[in-house]
Amino acid sequence: MKVLVISDIHANLTALETVLADAGEVDAVWALGDVVGYGPDPNECIERVKSLPNSICLLGNHDAATIDQIDVLTFNPAARLAIQWTQKAITPENREFLRKLPASQRVENVTLVHGSPREPVWEYLLDSRNAAANFDYFYTTYCFVGHTHLPIMYLMENGNQFAQMISPASFTPLKLVPRSIINPGSVGQPRDHDPRASYLLYDKETQTIEYRRIDYDIQAVQKRMRQAGLPSRHIQRLVDGW
Ligand code: ZN
Repeated sequence: MKVLVISDIHANLTALETVLADAGEVDAVWALGDVVGYGPDPNECIERVKSLPNSICLLGNHDAATIDQIDVLTFNPAARLAIQWTQKAITPENREFLRKLPASQRVENVTLVHGSPREPVWEYLLDSRNAAANFDYFYTTYCFVGHTHLPIMYLMENGNQFAQMISPASFTPLKLVPRSIINPGSVGQPRDHDPRASYLLYDKETQTIEYRRIDYDIQAVQKRMRQAGLPSRHIQRLVDGW
């Protein structure tokens, strides 16, 4: 069974469609939150995710802010403007979709969250120390997370005392080792200085993953962002991959 694992689409339909076409036929889709925020296509992205086979979508911090579950004042001014724009743009049906999203979900030997097992919506797993502390907060073999927009993995070593950080190569199948925390990177707003959309494929039978990075039409997204009047900082960062 082939699972497409995506995160942080951030209302970037062009990147999402490019990823879906590149991934080809899959049996299930796990979207790890932040379908909306920053980008110009919140409704289109939600509707596309809803249309995917066996899709599970998690609640991200931008999704939660859009439906007033998190105070927009906790975001920096530019991110806040984008959330307020999204709140105006989103349809009642799609608002309802966001309202029903779970903060975490377990699928067999895998836990899915947006931020971290300890703080599913908010915590950023940016270093080995925080990652190591989080292995006590989930009980499955693997945990898939998003939120940092960085395609990295943490491998537990020495009984939760230490987590090794790994930056996996793209297009290279990798056998998973128990236990690991795995981040597919961001579809719609990568932040590792590589502007290409990031995602991964997970093969349940062989317990392997394959990271992928692909080009998409960034200019087309930037044009729609300009037309929507979204903050220029977010328009620029798509090219910088940061
Ligand atoms: Zn995000």
